[in-house]
Amino acid sequence: MGKPEVSAVEAALVEQQGASFTLHGAGVSGGIAIGYAHLISTARLEVAHYEIPREEIDAETERLDAAIEQVRGELVGLHAAVPADAPAEMGAFLDLHLMILNDALLSAAPRELIRTRRWNAEWALVHQMEILVHRFEEIEDAYLRERKVDVQQVVERVLKAMLGTGHQPEPPEHEEDIIVVAHDLSPADMILFKQHEFAAFVTDLGGVTSHTAIVARSLNLPAIVGLHHARHMIREGELLIVDGTVGVLIVNPDRQVLAEYQLRRSQFDLERQKLKRLKTMPAATVEGITIALQANIELPEDVGAALEAGATGVGLFRSEFLFLNRDDLPDEDEQFEAYRQVVLAMNGHPVTIRTLDLGADKTLNGEHFAGPNPALGLRAIRFCLAEPQMFLTQLRAILRASYYGKVRILVPMIVHAHEIDQVLRYIANAEDTLAQAGIAFDPSVPVGGMVEVPAAALAVATFMKKLDFLSIGTNDLIQYTLAIDRTDDNVAHLYDPLHPAVLQLVAHTIRTATKAGVPVAVCGEVAGDVALTRLLLGLGLRQFSMHPAQLLAVKQQVLRSSIPEVELLAQRILRSEDPERTRALLAKLNA
Ligand code: PEP
Ligand code: MG
Repeated sequence: MGKPEVSAVEAALVEQQGASFTLHGAGVSGGIAIGYAHLISTARLEVAHYEIPREEIDAETERLDAAIEQVRGELVGLHAAVPADAPAEMGAFLDLHLMILNDALLSAAPRELIRTRRWNAEWALVHQMEILVHRFEEIEDAYLRERKVDVQQVVERVLKAMLGTGHQPEPPEHEEDIIVVAHDLSPADMILFKQHEFAAFVTDLGGVTSHTAIVARSLNLPAIVGLHHARHMIREGELLIVDGTVGVLIVNPDRQVLAEYQLRRSQFDLERQKLKRLKTMPAATVEGITIALQANIELPEDVGAALEAGATGVGLFRSEFLFLNRDDLPDEDEQFEAYRQVVLAMNGHPVTIRTLDLGADKTLNGEHFAGPNPALGLRAIRFCLAEPQMFLTQLRAILRASYYGKVRILVPMIVHAHEIDQVLRYIANAEDTLAQAGIAFDPSVPVGGMVEVPAAALAVATFMKKLDFLSIGTNDLIQYTLAIDRTDDNVAHLYDPLHPAVLQLVAHTIRTATKAGVPVAVCGEVAGDVALTRLLLGLGLRQFSMHPAQLLAVKQQVLRSSIPEVELLAQRILRSEDPERTRALLAKLNA
């Protein structure tokens, strides 16, 4: 991505700017970006934000009213078409949506905003929706709280009805000058961002290991989450500085601050450039022990970045991202093509395809099956085992792709031994149907399990007897060990990979697997955290899988590490009972 040459414009903007202020959040993707705020809404449809001329206020209000009327007609029509024998919930659901639509709370306030603030109808409607959603979120009763989804769905219908009927503002000339400012973004939204070239993004909500943050890292964009009120404090077009390394957002910087960050940005870019020289160098420690540095990818097109970073395989292909942002499910052929594309591109290097990890924050379009506590609900392998057809389709597609290279199957979130038994039976079943149809596949595809729940780490000795390899998913392992929802910024400050319980579970898993000769990797975000590379090496880890953007920096750490040295300090960190001491020892390890 070319860096915006905006210095002169930036300077001009500084002259006419509003008051400067700074916000702090969690930096989730490093680097510095300087650009202009572009506010986007939480609605799945991106909503334009512009000011309308005074003389168009009436027309704009009518546009909103017409859309509401159209949706009312649609809902009434749908209601009439509900078959007599349909479940009662169907009619009740449409009644509820009609009730929401008819409520003055949804229509009166946006009219007022159009009139007083001269906002376009979409923006006014989404603004009011967010106020209502926020109120729902504060309700204690879980059922009522979830009705916020109905409000969002009704608003999305109205927005769709308005689509194409308003003025669309000129798209900004250079996308790479844009800093996206949102209240919240879903992993699915982030995937859509892959088609754009924004400079950075910042959100009010979100945690460090949320999938939103993970995709931001994969985009190699500076990003900050958990800023709380940024979306309401920042105005469209304001000049922003995003320091994604430390989580600082500066709004309307003065000349001096701007100049300082322009310099820092150049230094950061220069460092990244320098790292590129390590691309073809084998990743080995000082004494020559080879360390596998593999890539995490979300979509087949990410494989380019993996190769560019010199990854020696794909350690985690989050296949569920193929299922997001669409109304249908990818069929066997479509999945097969996607997997095969990656396998061929990796040219003999292993490609670890994780079976669907849907649920929690990654839901299919329009589905809210996750239950009252999504992270503890029907997600990952639990969901797949509850949807055998979907699972078998995926397994057949993966097996077909195995014919074209080195494929491994990775099962997310195992907790019970019987889940592994069931998976192995499904794989055998998929192999049988392929064999019967005369379709080629590799008959010995390794099957591995993700250690993401403390139960799996503690019982790893039993589980690994049934598996060919293991991969530690520290994002979930930390979430479940420390009881912190990884998508909730209210508890994001409690995220701590150095917590003794986390370190013990990781160390125990690596030690047990290594002793039994079972390959073990770490594929959570800690694998790409350069501050933890030497600690993981010291705990015996020899395989890391991370977003390609982090790979060369991790390689730099590996190249300067000597195993006996890092082992010694890692063991001391493992024994440490005091967080201060742990941090001091880690600093020593990294010195
Ligand atoms: C993890 O949990 O660490 C992991 C790699 O899986 P995901 O982040 O996709 O949940
Ligand atoms: Mg996980």
